[in-house]
Amino acid sequence: MALRGVVAMDGPSGTGKSTVSRRLAQACGAAYLDTGAMYRAATLAVLRADLDESASEEEMTAVATGRDLVSGTDPAGPTITLDGSDVSAEIRGPEVTGLVSAVSALPAVRAEMVAKQHELIADAVNGGGGIVVEGRDIGTVVVPDAPLKVYLTASPAVRAARRGRQDARAGREADLHVTLSDVERRDRLDSSRRISPLYAAADALVLDTDNLSADDVLARLRALVADRGLEG
Ligand code: C5P
Repeated sequence: MALRGVVAMDGPSGTGKSTVSRRLAQACGAAYLDTGAMYRAATLAVLRADLDESASEEEMTAVATGRDLVSGTDPAGPTITLDGSDVSAEIRGPEVTGLVSAVSALPAVRAEMVAKQHELIADAVNGGGGIVVEGRDIGTVVVPDAPLKVYLTASPAVRAARRGRQDARAGREADLHVTLSDVERRDRLDSSRRISPLYAAADALVLDTDNLSADDVLARLRALVADRGLEG
């Protein structure tokens, strides 16, 4: 059974969103789009231009837009390239994580990324296919008519612990207090920005994952996909 249409997966970082979105796409024979990776790659472009948070919006926008940024949609091996080279690992580093909320708040950056996202989503669903799209504004802005919208939440402490484990697995050093304050800082910035702030769409199903394993969440998502008749 393969997914038809779009599943919109939103929520803050550390809710297990990427893990379950990817696994859902694999389980349903669907494409997968990690929109956070796109904002992270745009942020890497800013860092490569030797800019930091002291740069003006104009300076950041000039280097973050118009780049050769290509996002793959294969859930078995999601890739993202910037100016022709694979930056999948580099975009997960602390420098990018520290600056990404500032870059993703820039109107021209969002407009460009959303246009790219619409193209990739159209490629996947034209002809009857499906795609799981994860981010912060998928159900509210990118695909407001998605037939299934899920908003994952979890307490900041649980999310920081999950991020910490992810960092450890990837060989990145992380102090739990620093990770927690980063999670809280990004929540604040992402939820309070003027354009496309993070919030659950009115018609999203909100799932608190504090006491749910990735397997539990995946089982719920698969049941929702089946209930809504999105498999064909
Ligand atoms: O999901 P991830 O933690 O990789 O996202 C990194 C950042 O990208 C978020 O903190 C947010 O600032 C931005 N983002 C966004 N809109 C999306 C996805 C991510 O603004 N749809």
